[in-house]
Amino acid sequence: MRTATIIDGKAIATRLTADVGAAVARLTRDHGVTPGLAVVLVGTDPASEVYVRNKGRQTTAAGMASFEIKVPDTTSEAEVLDIVRSLNRREDVDGILVQLPLPKHIDSGRVIEAIDPAKDVDGFHPINAGRLATGQAALVPCTPLGCIMLIKSVHTDLTGMEAVVIGRSNIVGKPVAQLLLAESCTVTIAHSKSRDLPAISRRADLVIAAVGRPELVRGDWIKPGATVIDVGINRVAGTDGRNRLVGDVHFTEASAVAGAITPVPGGVGPMTIACLLRNTVVAAAARRGLPHAL
Ligand code: NAP
Repeated sequence: MRTATIIDGKAIATRLTADVGAAVARLTRDHGVTPGLAVVLVGTDPASEVYVRNKGRQTTAAGMASFEIKVPDTTSEAEVLDIVRSLNRREDVDGILVQLPLPKHIDSGRVIEAIDPAKDVDGFHPINAGRLATGQAALVPCTPLGCIMLIKSVHTDLTGMEAVVIGRSNIVGKPVAQLLLAESCTVTIAHSKSRDLPAISRRADLVIAAVGRPELVRGDWIKPGATVIDVGINRVAGTDGRNRLVGDVHFTEASAVAGAITPVPGGVGPMTIACLLRNTVVAAAARRGLPHAL
């Protein structure tokens, strides 16, 4: 039986997007600034095309300028670097996002490092990662930022909480751990080489699963009353032969034990684009020394 509060990421993302829209309107009205987000898509990966289209639609809906730069997957690394450098120079572009994954012949690390850190709205540039790790103002990766907002929708103060992050990617695991540390949690980062993951996870007041393994985290991995944030997006074959989305957490089992839990879909997913829009406004304001109230 489900006892957990369901954290409604869709509703929280909708509210954040409305706040972003209001901040954009203020920047435009008071300072004549319309924040602009440029998304670079290399190739024709269907999932990436959907993401890019959604980002463009939501950027415009929030009152910002959206620029899509689509190039074929035969584009060389040097050409992609040139595109990034020209976006760095453009005054009407405040945020630059290069859609990952890139084709194999392009070194994504080199491309990310070419982005002006002040326009790095994905927060993947080593300067932003370093600033986050050293407690300085930074553009913070969108999915981790969304996770913290979801946790804060059920806990106003995270001080002293035991947090276990499962996964240590640069995109999710590491930055979410840094953000939890900044909130004065006691943070454990687990990964594929961790011993006795269920026992580590059972210690946690907060479990953040960012693994990419369908339903890895079972009900008996969860301390009763814990808050569970499921970052995973995994496509699995359903009993009817059609694909369905599941997280890294076994939702039915975990929601019978947890105090609060995010669903998949409708949990972390919607927060990612909302935080991207937020970061674009933050970048637009910071570049001009203006307030943004987000
Ligand atoms: P990733 O780069 O593949 O990293 C996965 C991490 O999980 C690695 O650190 C890996 O450990 C660890 N891991 C793998 N198998 C494990 C196991 N059996 N036990 C413990 N740890 C294990 O993935 P990612 O980019 O962080 O993404 C993780 C998930 O989040 C994916 O499902 C992805 O689709 C989803 N995601 C969702 C959003 C969103 O908007 N909601 C955004 C980004 C990602 P090692 O380091 O030891 O290999």
